[in-house]
Order: sequence, then C-alpha cells, then structure tokens
Amino acid sequence: MEEIKMVDLLGQHNQIRREIDSAIKEVIDSSAFIKGKQVKAFEENLARYLGAKHVIGCGNGTDALQIALMALGLEPGDRVLVPAFTYVATAEVIALLHLVPVMYDVNPRTFNTDASVSLEYMDELVDKRTKAIVPVHLFGQCSQMDAILEFAHRHNLKVVEDCAQALGSKCKVSNISEHEGCFSESVSGGQEETAETMGGCIGDIGCTSFFPTKNLGCMGDGGALITNDDALAEQIRMIANHGQKVKYHHDLIGCNSRLDTLQAAVLDVKLKHLDEYIAARRKAAASYTRLIKAFDPLEKHICTPVECEFTTHTYHQYTIIVKDSIKYPDQNTRDALKAFLAERGIPSMIYYPLPLSKQAAFRGIALRREDFNPGADDSLHNSEWLADHVLSLPVHTCLKEDQIEYIAEAIKDYLCK
Ligand SMILES: *Cc1c(COP(=O)(O)O)cnc(C)c1O
Repeated sequence: MEEIKMVDLLGQHNQIRREIDSAIKEVIDSSAFIKGKQVKAFEENLARYLGAKHVIGCGNGTDALQIALMALGLEPGDRVLVPAFTYVATAEVIALLHLVPVMYDVNPRTFNTDASVSLEYMDELVDKRTKAIVPVHLFGQCSQMDAILEFAHRHNLKVVEDCAQALGSKCKVSNISEHEGCFSESVSGGQEETAETMGGCIGDIGCTSFFPTKNLGCMGDGGALITNDDALAEQIRMIANHGQKVKYHHDLIGCNSRLDTLQAAVLDVKLKHLDEYIAARRKAAASYTRLIKAFDPLEKHICTPVECEFTTHTYHQYTIIVKDSIKYPDQNTRDALKAFLAERGIPSMIYYPLPLSKQAAFRGIALRREDFNPGADDSLHNSEWLADHVLSLPVHTCLKEDQIEYIAEAIKDYLCK
C-alpha cells in the first residue's frame, strides 16, 4: 500500500500537470503578474460556477474576511457575532479592526451555526452595538443559512459567510424573498420558494480561501470575496486595491490584497476539476462512514459526520468525534487514538485543539454570553468539548479504497478490542 498522506497535493497536480504548466507558461510569457487577464477570467468563471454576481480575488482568505468587514462600514467598538469553534482567522480580523468578537456556541454534531443551538440564546448577545454575524461553514457543510438570515434580519445585522472550507457546497434556503439584499438577482418573481444556492452567495458577502489544501487550492496564498450587491462589490474592489478606483486617487483607506495572476491561472485550471474533486472526497467519506458504522453502529465510540438535509457536504475534512472511553480512564481517548494511528503510519489532525474562548490572544477582547447575563454559564460548552474530542482523518482526491479500509481497521482495533 502507498504511504497514507493527510493531503496529497502532488498527486492531484500530477494529474493535471500539463494544463497547469501551460497556464503558468502563458502568464510568464505575458509577464502581467499583477492584474493580468487570467485574474478577471478566473473571477468570472468562479462567479458563473457559484451563480453569484461578483467574485473579487484577493491575497488570502483572512484578507477576504478583513476586507468584507471593512466594506460593510463597521466602526471601532461595533460587535460581531462569531462561532467559538472555528479557525482563528474568522475572529482575528474582527479584533484587528478594533471590533469586538462576541462568541457563540455551535451544534456539537454539525460543528456549525444552527437554530437549535447557536441561535437559541443569541438574542441575549445582541445589543445596539452589534452589527454583523460571521457564520462559518466548517469542514465542508454550510451553516443553517435560512435561520441565520432570519435572525440577522430581525436584528438588522450584516451577514458575512466564511466559506473557506465549503466552496462548492449547496445550501437550501427557504422564504428567500424575505431576505432583502440577499439573492436580489437570483429570486424570480419574489414569491416564497426554496432555492438551492451555493454557500458563500447567501449573506451580504461570502469569503473564501485558496490556501493549497482547501478544496479549491492554489500554489501559494489566495482568496476571494463573493457578493450579489453591485455597490458592495465596487467598495470591495477599491479596498483591496489601496482604496482607489482611479490610479493614485485614494478615496478610502484600503490595503494591498490581490490575487496574483499566476495563482489565478492555476485556479482557473483547477476550477474545471472542482466538482470531480468534491465527488472524490464524498466517495472517500462515504467509505469511511460505512466502514466505521459497520463496527460501531450505535456510535458507542465514534460519531461519524452527519449530513444535514439543508446542505451538501464537500468534505474539506472528514472529522469524527471520539467519545471518552472507560477503557482508558487516564487519558484523552482521542489523543490516544491519534498516537495509535500514527504508530501504524496513519496521519490525522486536530481541527481545532482550542476554541476561540481558550485562545490567549482573545483574552480580554472577546465577549461571551456570561458577559451579558452573569447568571448564564458554560455557554460555549459544545465548542470547548469538541476541541477535546474531534479528530480529522486523511481525506483527499487521491486517497485509495484500500487505504481507507486500513485506517478504519486500525480505528476498530484500537477502540473495539
Ligand atoms: C483557511 C481558512 C481561513 C483563512 O484563509 P487563509 O487563506 O489561510 O488566510 C479562514 N477561515 C477558515 C474557516 C479557514 O478554514
């Protein structure tokens, strides 16, 4: 059996090497390394793929989130709701702009924002300084966007989707005509209906990353913003380019965050294969789930990922929950399993070992429910619990069935013997 890798970028590139090489050569021959024609072509092709009106490339996914918050005109001290179980970038940019992150909890099975857990107590977290919510589509599935839109609409909040991990996932949103500003172009007739829309195209702005290991990854850093709003799109383009529309005439304070032509050329090639890549990930995930369920049908040891009915899953990560086991009372069962797999040559990762609420950088900066309602406690229980119990298994477009069988067998050996 071949070596098992957590991700296999080289394997993926080797399959499309000739297309990539010629795309790169074309950029070098033109030497338009910044704002070359491939950038516009890729932005248009991704917009078409997503069914969105505007895609604006930028330097990376973190910049996309920062630029989104800048474009929405938030003021220092304004508050922004953010899930506690996410990659740091989602909240980092909030603090960087002197906004205040307000952390809420996620659903412990979907890892995402939904009505049953997150929104249940969130009215308490909103006051007149609260201006936006940044739901994250973690591991490849969308958060429950129609509930989030309803909540945001009720409190007059802007919605920025962090879809760095879920590009290409489709989300069902009902009663879309109630959500002004969203879907303005995609709704026909304005009557009530359920639309299936790509994650990232539902809120005011969607933000994504083309970090090499993302489902659509480039060969360095890259990112993009997605919006259906013409005015926001113009604002975003200006902010990402030093606040200028006319060269050397700076109307806004912006930044320098552009998608390189070389990266755009690579991405344009890979975009054509994105659906194939997602299908390969879904196939690997289905095999994992079938094999794990076969030895642990009642989830005594392992919870396999749930697939929500309102969203498709693109399996950026295949993340299981490893339950505490009385067989190993002195150690974290997840950590012990991870070490056992490593001994058998199986890599795995913990996304993420600390929720935002336990990150030193956010101490004294982020708020949580207890800050609004001193009687409440443990409001981030799920996020904090997940950090000790999640384990992401290898998933990529070159993973073989025999490798998945070997991995599942190793998990079974450890937990069920
Ligand atoms: C990758 C990622 C980002 C940041 O993207 P970069 O391109 O690495 O800056 C933001 N949010 C989430 C959820 C991510 O997974």
